[in-house]
Amino acid sequence: VKSRIAVLLAVVFVLCLFMAGCGRTPVSPPAREAGGMAAAGLAVHYIDVGQGDAILIRTPQQAILIDSGDVVQDKREHPVVTYLKNQGITTLDAIIITHPHADHLGGIQPVLAAFPVKRIYDSGQTTTTRLYKQYLLQVKQLKVPFTVARAGTQAALDDGVKLDFLSPPGSLLTDTASDLNNNSLVVRLVYGDISFLFVGDIEKEGESRLLKQGGSFKSTILKVGHHGSSTSGTAAFLKAVAPETAIIMCGVDNDYHHPHPGTLKKLERAQVKVYRTDLQGSIIVMTDGRQYTVKVEK
Ligand SMILES: [Zn+2]
Repeated sequence: VKSRIAVLLAVVFVLCLFMAGCGRTPVSPPAREAGGMAAAGLAVHYIDVGQGDAILIRTPQQAILIDSGDVVQDKREHPVVTYLKNQGITTLDAIIITHPHADHLGGIQPVLAAFPVKRIYDSGQTTTTRLYKQYLLQVKQLKVPFTVARAGTQAALDDGVKLDFLSPPGSLLTDTASDLNNNSLVVRLVYGDISFLFVGDIEKEGESRLLKQGGSFKSTILKVGHHGSSTSGTAAFLKAVAPETAIIMCGVDNDYHHPHPGTLKKLERAQVKVYRTDLQGSIIVMTDGRQYTVKVEK
């Protein structure tokens, strides 16, 4: 009898081990890895929204959206909402609106309707458009905490991830070719040795103010200003940022003829590797803080 009990116990023991082992083996990869994000890493998604900007940052714990693409005229789900849902996003820890032009603010209404948002960082620049007024109203109705960011503002993120606002300073630029563009929020994200610079639509006036301001904005990966327009990406600015990789966000055959051949030439001369959403679709940069890889949709 004793030996039978011993055999039974051994069987139960082995069975327990087996089940415990099974418990640790993931049946399918967790949703957060669906977009190709390393479990302990950081991923930046430059979402193909045609002509406009929408960038998703996924830190080990958090999700941040910079700009929301353009307005969608038909009844289909907004492409930024679809993209975020496909990434398994259920909450946005922050939305950063670089400036209130429609190609950056256009998707805010459906995004706010689809996801709880913990905080909005805004440039504080106002416009008279219906889109902008509706945005403010919706933020008020949903009681989303709203911060007007300025150079020196820091966003509270996971340990090991730094997100600093570099521009605009307290007094905004005036009488430039486009004040709304030049006073875009400029954000620098640092994860270990890898840094990302997001410059919204700043043009040469905004760039030269950043240069005068000084400080560190040298970055590994640059989101090129104003969709690669001829008015952005001066040689002096590119030299100071010294990126290895640049991302241009623009639409296929867009009305503005972005990116400008001169901007592409400057990037080529500076030996920067260029990726474009009009040619390659959504672009994902993944990093462990030491190295990075770039994945393109097409
Ligand atoms: Zn724009």
